[in-house]
Amino acid sequence: MIKFVDLQRQYHSIKSEIDKVVKDVLESSSFVLGPFTEEFEKSFAKLHNAKYCITVSSGTSALYLILKALKIGRGDKVIVPVNTFIATVEAVSLNGAKPVFVDIDEKTYNIGPELVENYITTKTKAIIPVHLYGQPAEMDNLIKIAKKYNLYLVEDACQAHMAQYKGKKVGTFGIAAAFSFYPSKNLGAYGEGGAIITNNYELAEKIRMLRDHGSKQKYYHEIIGGNFRMSALQAAILNVKLKHLEKWTEKRREIAHFYNLLLSRSSSNVTPYELSYVKHVYHLYVIRILNKDRDKIRQKLYERGIETAIHYPLPLHLQKVYRFLGLKEGQFPIAEKYAKQILSLPIYPELKEKEIEFIAEKLKKILKNS
Ligand SMILES: *Cc1c(COP(=O)(O)O)cnc(C)c1O
Repeated sequence: MIKFVDLQRQYHSIKSEIDKVVKDVLESSSFVLGPFTEEFEKSFAKLHNAKYCITVSSGTSALYLILKALKIGRGDKVIVPVNTFIATVEAVSLNGAKPVFVDIDEKTYNIGPELVENYITTKTKAIIPVHLYGQPAEMDNLIKIAKKYNLYLVEDACQAHMAQYKGKKVGTFGIAAAFSFYPSKNLGAYGEGGAIITNNYELAEKIRMLRDHGSKQKYYHEIIGGNFRMSALQAAILNVKLKHLEKWTEKRREIAHFYNLLLSRSSSNVTPYELSYVKHVYHLYVIRILNKDRDKIRQKLYERGIETAIHYPLPLHLQKVYRFLGLKEGQFPIAEKYAKQILSLPIYPELKEKEIEFIAEKLKKILKNS
């Protein structure tokens, strides 16, 4: 069986380093914030040439806290792509603001930059581009629009650690960016974790307070915050993993390019499109199945020992939770069409060449015979 994600393989490849650092944390008994967390925040900020990094309990918390710190709330609108993980939108709703969905670009599957302007009103406060599957969104266009209408740009970089747009890493194009360290992300903890990157001092200070009960000094509370801290154990693990991230990222790219070569575009499948001026980091390798029953193909792959996934099966405007917005089927034609075609193939740095060949070969055979 080829698993869709296989976290065991990675652990075994760095076991001695991880085991040592876990022991170090236990021996130090520094479990919350403290030196391991500070070390990680420093390294992650430096990696992005950013001034501040604040670790938090998850990518969802990161998005939530950025919007909260920006005072986005009741009466405000925030523009989001209609194909993303639900967390992007939850951050908007949890703050009391209204999400405004925009269809995706046909080639990149990211928010359609030329569509965004149609949805801007006087209530719009921010745009959240998601660097979906690991490919940076069209930042130049979005930056232009954000400037023109005086909107905040908040990057959802939860799937895009180390991705680059025109030579610059994602995470510093807007006022702030959210990262997730969910175990299966390109940089994954062994539990929950997330981080915010920003160059804005006031925003960083505010988020730091929000994450820790609204206080700068223990037991003195200035604003209403909460507990959004990441465990120091996770920070220590991430310190180890961060050293391997570049190598792992290159491996993901190699695997994606190998898949591209083996599958190549045909009348029955479309391989991912990578913009010429970006570095896609392939958190997911998503193809589209054309003119065939995607779910049947998926079932056949499974029967031949290949696990796949769908990101995401139902566009957000059609989810039960967002029915109250009154949006209808047909409103976002590209996302709706693609939701029925997309298929995510296994991709992780430890995936072996012969496994990739096996997957491609089986898929091609199944496509041909169905
Ligand atoms: C994973 C993810 C999140 C949320 O991160 P968690 O750490 O799971 O809370 C947000 N947005 C996108 C696009 C994601 O893929």
